[in-house]
Amino acid sequence: MEFYRPTKAVIDLTAIEKNLMEFQKRAGQAEVIAVVKADAYGHGVLEVVKKAVSNGVKLLAVATPDEALYLRRNNVKEDVLVMGAVPGRFLPIAQQENITVTAISLEWLSMAAEAMDSNLPDLRVHLKVDTGMRRVGVQVKEAEQALSFLREHSFSLDGIFTHFATADEESGELFQNQINQMKSIIDFLDDPSVMVHVSNSAAAIMHPGLSYDAVRVGISLYGIAPSPYVRGKMPFKLQPALSLETEIIHVKKVQAGDTLSYGATYRCEQDEWIATLPIGYADGLLRGLQGQEVLVQGQRVPIVGRICMDQCMIRLTGKMPVGEKVQLIGRQQDEHILIDEWAEKLGTIPYEIPCILTKRIPRIYT
Ligand code: PLP
Repeated sequence: MEFYRPTKAVIDLTAIEKNLMEFQKRAGQAEVIAVVKADAYGHGVLEVVKKAVSNGVKLLAVATPDEALYLRRNNVKEDVLVMGAVPGRFLPIAQQENITVTAISLEWLSMAAEAMDSNLPDLRVHLKVDTGMRRVGVQVKEAEQALSFLREHSFSLDGIFTHFATADEESGELFQNQINQMKSIIDFLDDPSVMVHVSNSAAAIMHPGLSYDAVRVGISLYGIAPSPYVRGKMPFKLQPALSLETEIIHVKKVQAGDTLSYGATYRCEQDEWIATLPIGYADGLLRGLQGQEVLVQGQRVPIVGRICMDQCMIRLTGKMPVGEKVQLIGRQQDEHILIDEWAEKLGTIPYEIPCILTKRIPRIYT
């Protein structure tokens, strides 16, 4: 498909491959589960899956049943785990399509025993244990009962997992409690055929001793550190995979005292060269990014005035031509704008940034 607006997200699949290989090295005997929910954190799920699978990934994790079906509809044959809740009416489809689902509570298990189709292959399940997130999962004291229930009914119990609430911070009491509780359940289970996985990116980076049979790597597969704390402790270099770029579409000299954009919130203190960029909040360049810097000719210049739905303005250091390349995220010459910088400006975490870049921005792969 051809695009006629110069705004695009460039996804470096080699960066993803390098990050994956670092995690595979770090996990040792354990395998890396590629977390590709939310369109691979905005990077484009099919291309990321292709790269991951060609590098030995055997299990893909998504959040919703629809994301799993999307993979099957696009000919992805590898195992797929839905980590979030799935309704009963999805279970026969999961059985037919060989999609693994997550048992999130005792109530869910009873429902599933009724809803699955006994004429189809056994429903493949990973049991989620809530050791501290308080989101989904059986309570620790219910785990024994859940395991008995799974064995008494025709489920195929393929895995057991938990999710850390604070793996991206300095280890504290909650993190240690979660580990201890999970250990007691794994000891009780005592079944090497069941895949045990507990670590997200942060835990896989900071605590390789917790790799068990597999680690679930999301954010850092894409070259983004889970938190400033982990970024400061990285034992290897993450390669950011996503760059965001556009081109100047209009340039003019604005007179001192003139104002820019909606609300006239920015007033030129002197005559200023102002360029217009074809990207706005409908693309994910949220209005809160007013003042954020972009790179032009290797120099940082600010977004000035309110960001509009489809366009925004930047203040140049001098006259520049229409068609000049502008880097909003990524490297230009010696300067680099990380996703973390946008997150800080917006008062949020880096996870949100690739997810808010909307479908209107084409993803181009290198
Ligand atoms: N496991 C579960 C259950 C998750 O919800 C997520 C993402 O939020 C991940 C693993 C991957 O986490 P991260 O992106 O921090 O690696």
